[in-house]
Amino acid sequence: MTIIKTLSATETSDLGALLGSLLQPGDVITLNGDLGAGKTCFAGGVARGLGINERITSPTFTLINEYDGRLPLYHLDVYRLASPEELEDLGYEEYFYGSGVTLIEWAERVEQYLPAERLDIFIEKHTDDDNIRVLRFIARGKRYNKLAEEFMQHDRSGH
Ligand code: ADP
Ligand code: MG
Repeated sequence: MTIIKTLSATETSDLGALLGSLLQPGDVITLNGDLGAGKTCFAGGVARGLGINERITSPTFTLINEYDGRLPLYHLDVYRLASPEELEDLGYEEYFYGSGVTLIEWAERVEQYLPAERLDIFIEKHTDDDNIRVLRFIARGKRYNKLAEEFMQHDRSGH
């Protein structure tokens, strides 16, 4: 497990961009944390790191947004699913087991559908300061251990 603190939205987005630059086809990243934690902020950085120029918005109502960069990006937000089973109507397997990159906000809500191998990211607000976030990275499986290792080697934030 890796813990990184960010002191601003820009730093969180830049961390996302670093991760985005390291992603490979089929990678699945979950983003967990309360409303306003910074999940979409991080996702926007990932998109930037994948060479996507569009502005990323939370797919809270649409449930999924697709973007084209160096790799296809599938950005899901499952906050509004009435039940985890609704994920089946979305054809989630095409995304989770496809050749693009999948980012899932509120992934904890659909835990039973998540691939066993993935990178889980938990974002929390710091109690002392409104602009500090604590990001925890948990790699599950060989590919994601390697990804997390590479990520740490490149991280220059120093917090
Ligand atoms: P979520 O998708 O988790 O609901 P958002 O990314 O949409 O959250 O919103 C995060 C909010 O917190 C933004 O308004 C952002 O500017 C603000 N913010 C302040 N400090 C940080 C930080 N260190 N990292 C990320 N966001 C931050
Ligand atoms: Mg969001």
